[in-house]
Amino acid sequence: MIPAVDGSAESALDPVVPQEADPRTALSGGVAGAAALEPVLRVVLDALAAGAAERGGPLPAGRPAQLAAGVARALSQPGGDDALHRLTTLLAYGSADPADPFCAAHLHCPPLAVAVAADLAVSALNPSQDSWDQAPAATSLETLLLEELARLVGYPAEAAGVLTSGGTESNLMGLTLARDRVMGEATGQRIETGGIPRNAPRPRIFASAVAHFSVQRAAALLGLGEDAVVPVPVDDGLRMDAGALARALDEAAGRGELPVAVVATAGTTDTGAIDPLPACAALAREHGAWLHVDAAYGGGALLSDRLAPLVAGIELADSVSLDWHKLGWQPAAAGVFLVRRAETYASLARRAAYLNPADDERAGYPSLLGLSLRTTRRADAFKIAVTLRTLGRSGLGRLVDACHDLALAGAEAVRAHPRLELHADPVLTTFLFRYMPADPERADRVNAGLRRRLLREGRAVVGRTELPGDGPGRVRLKLTLLNPHTTPEQVERLIHTVAEEGAAEEELP
Ligand SMILES: *Cc1c(COP(=O)(O)O)cnc(C)c1O
Repeated sequence: MIPAVDGSAESALDPVVPQEADPRTALSGGVAGAAALEPVLRVVLDALAAGAAERGGPLPAGRPAQLAAGVARALSQPGGDDALHRLTTLLAYGSADPADPFCAAHLHCPPLAVAVAADLAVSALNPSQDSWDQAPAATSLETLLLEELARLVGYPAEAAGVLTSGGTESNLMGLTLARDRVMGEATGQRIETGGIPRNAPRPRIFASAVAHFSVQRAAALLGLGEDAVVPVPVDDGLRMDAGALARALDEAAGRGELPVAVVATAGTTDTGAIDPLPACAALAREHGAWLHVDAAYGGGALLSDRLAPLVAGIELADSVSLDWHKLGWQPAAAGVFLVRRAETYASLARRAAYLNPADDERAGYPSLLGLSLRTTRRADAFKIAVTLRTLGRSGLGRLVDACHDLALAGAEAVRAHPRLELHADPVLTTFLFRYMPADPERADRVNAGLRRRLLREGRAVVGRTELPGDGPGRVRLKLTLLNPHTTPEQVERLIHTVAEEGAAEEELP
């Protein structure tokens, strides 16, 4: 406990304040807040267990309309004291639970209990990161955590960053700073104030053909248009082809276009493919483009001694996206955006008289306002800090390695199955495969159908995607292994379940 400077511990929350008579309007903060939370938390914990038991599997069985009708019924029941229990039970029953070994479709992780508990503390206290006087300790904590994460990436001390809602927002931030800096230098104008000058060369962003769709969306939001994104061809491992990037940059230069950014993906969402980061960095530098590395998924490799070499070169990026709600086992949201040099943040700086007056900053009251696109912002750094202090990088690295091992075991089980076809060996913790029906023409329909059958029966949540390209035969199933407590035998059983459903689906006319 840090003693008050004047020695008094006086607070408006001393017991002179009468206890709230109606528990339904009790507040979560102050000394009395813990006591107010205790009974309702017991209700929530009981309902979580009851709902999960009722579900009895990775997701509720039935069609979406059946579940929706149940939700509508629960919401239309009269309110009252049991709303928390009733609706929490429903939420737990009606969840796709990534803690179930058969829920393995998306980059949707089972959060660590300790991280959820830390996040509860944040919810109870409700700090907001847009001004020091709403988040005194949480402001310092976020800054210090970001310094630690910047070191993890290999960034120098001049790095800076912010917690975000995830890769989507982080990618938008990277491309915002790229636009303002690169177009600003090329035109001699301040883009963030005057907009894109009419006579500016056409801005271009280079990203692999399998980069995340949020890159296109960011280009649209930034007034560059989705067509500003040049899809760079990939090699057979779905990594950006460095030679193709070099050609695309040269061709753009030949047309008098402005290469604003190269977006390299470190771990694509579907296959975990990692673009050649050092080559991307060299080409971006050569053409005066910003390098943003989207490591929303692959950033987790930084935690593992075994996998970290895969993302070597990430430290060359001007900016990076990391998502701790993927390989980091945090409840959403736990996105991180980092820049290598704090000065490149300049175009986002904001002064709001009511949040960060200049004299406050001069007097030593720091502000994170100008680091974020958001104003009110949860203290999402806290749960990450608690997790890192609890497990350390090495403890988290063991979880990453366990999931990588599961992916390797799963791929082996697919390879060993006569009716299943593996797309490629796993890079991180995900892999694509498909069921091969006797009639290959029916492959797409059977795989799409078997996945919905697994959902309908409440048996498994398996991903479905398509390989890049045109024409039929591209539908693939996907397993994303993010549950470090799943066993290889369970993954094998899941794969056999998929094959059984494939056979059943194939029987249909
Ligand atoms: C998940 C993901 C994103 C989007 O991140 P959100 O946290 O969902 O906003 C972006 N890029 C990649 C490579 C991803 O895997």
